[in-house]
Amino acid sequence: MVVPRMDHQGERPRWDCNVCGEAWPCSPAREHLVGAMNPTELRTLMWGLLEKAARELPPVSAPELFERFLHWTPQIREASR
Ligand SMILES: [Zn+2]
Repeated sequence: MVVPRMDHQGERPRWDCNVCGEAWPCSPAREHLVGAMNPTELRTLMWGLLEKAARELPPVSAPELFERFLHWTPQIREASR
């Protein structure tokens, strides 16, 4: 799984955007990812990143991580219609 190239990258291990300083994925990163990948690939990618971030970030609650990494991704069932 390859993360599409873009300016807004998460700066590990803090996972803050290296351009706008927001918690990554920031809004521009989200828009870019949604435009560049199909929903299935995107969710697979974000699950992988969520697991990585969960190990590197200071303790964050599961709902918070879900909100940050997955909640904004397009639903797979909508794409297969
Ligand atoms: Zn950013």
